[in-house]
Amino acid sequence: MKGSIRAIFLQTLFPEKCISCKVRGEILCLNCQSKLSPNLDYINKNTLAFYSYKDPSIKKMLWLLKYKGKTKVAHILATLIYNQILELLVDKKMMDNFVDPILVSIPVSNKRKRKRGYNQVDLIAKHLSQKIKDDILYIPNVLQKTKHTKRQADIKNRNQRLQNLIGTMSVHKEAKGKIRSRNIIILDDIVTTGATMREAEKTLRKSGAKKVLMLAVAH
Ligand SMILES: [Zn+2]
Repeated sequence: MKGSIRAIFLQTLFPEKCISCKVRGEILCLNCQSKLSPNLDYINKNTLAFYSYKDPSIKKMLWLLKYKGKTKVAHILATLIYNQILELLVDKKMMDNFVDPILVSIPVSNKRKRKRGYNQVDLIAKHLSQKIKDDILYIPNVLQKTKHTKRQADIKNRNQRLQNLIGTMSVHKEAKGKIRSRNIIILDDIVTTGATMREAEKTLRKSGAKKVLMLAVAH
């Protein structure tokens, strides 16, 4: 909490410059937001990313949100993926009977959350759910990290990356009844190999989740 209050204070004190065109106002001005083009990328059948991590504006925003306390970025990212999620849900409802989904976010460890003051994915999920509250129910803290793991990006070997994740998440005991037999959307900021998503999916399924759709801002 402390960390986020400090972040809000700093953001009020220093007005932003657009990271792309340098105009004063927002972190990414509306003009530059409208120029961003989505790059829908299916990592596998049920895992979809909306933007390329190679896009400099996307990369910079995710970095600012994760490491620099720029919590305002969460709102911009939620706005950017909002329309695409709506379209996707219309399709999924028709083709796959994917109805009344619950939105959950990929957890970070308590250690990391304390250090940062927030889970960046929770912030995006919260903004997103405020926009689509008729279609999606966001339940915070459904998934929790049961142990602190090395950052996936720091492990180069694929098998070790997979090993690093096994049994690292659980469903919060108070959330178990809420997700049983329900369709779930898992949200993450960046998906790389999809291993974290699969671990989250497995964990949710063990608790009786029905269909699971995995979405990430970038890949
Ligand atoms: Zn701009």
